[in-house]
Amino acid sequence: MMMSQNAPRRLYLMQVGVMPEYQIPIVCYLVQTGDGQNILIDSGLPEILPEGETEFENGRDVFEQLASLDLRPGDIDTVISTHYDGDHAGRHAAFTQAQYVVQRRHHLDAASNPRFACTRPQWDQPRERIRLVDGDTELLPGLALIETSGHVPGHQSVLVRLPQTGAILLTIDAVPFGEGFTRDAPDDGGDPDAAATHASTIKLLDLVEREQVGLVIFGHDQAQWETLKKAPEYYE
Ligand SMILES: [Zn+2]
Repeated sequence: MMMSQNAPRRLYLMQVGVMPEYQIPIVCYLVQTGDGQNILIDSGLPEILPEGETEFENGRDVFEQLASLDLRPGDIDTVISTHYDGDHAGRHAAFTQAQYVVQRRHHLDAASNPRFACTRPQWDQPRERIRLVDGDTELLPGLALIETSGHVPGHQSVLVRLPQTGAILLTIDAVPFGEGFTRDAPDDGGDPDAAATHASTIKLLDLVEREQVGLVIFGHDQAQWETLKKAPEYYE
């Protein structure tokens, strides 16, 4: 198969924080392409956590992680924003040279949704710097955004195709834990968000079969995280 010059060559996994009570990792990802683009997926927790916040804890943050790869915030060309929760969009504003890519549905919902008010200074960037996408979108050859609403409206997962490893699916919060990656219907009592989450789970299970995904990385799965390569190591 011919590899496109601008196709992904490397995927780095970076843990930038933790939910200490359950040792749940807060993570970001970096994709590097053959033509030297740096594409960050999410940015982790805000530097200053709200007073009294005990649920989350910063670790080696995204800047330290990038610095260890010899990258500065200005080197990031694109920030794929999976959604605007505080553990995913907390440092977006630092990437002043980047274009942000987010689902239109999520961006529009966030404007009036109090859930995303605390990260607003991070994600509410000048409109010309935000690329709004509608549904499943191929960003580059080998890098696709997969709309997976449920956790929040317009959440997106990411499919990365690498030369050696093949297809890797980053579920993000559509499927935070591996145990939830099943076709079993949830016992949700008719909760519409749970129904949407289930539909997105099925969508991703189908995608794994169709695209022959060899590695599915769940959003916050500590047991799996321990088994994965982390930066400065990478998947290629
Ligand atoms: Zn999350």
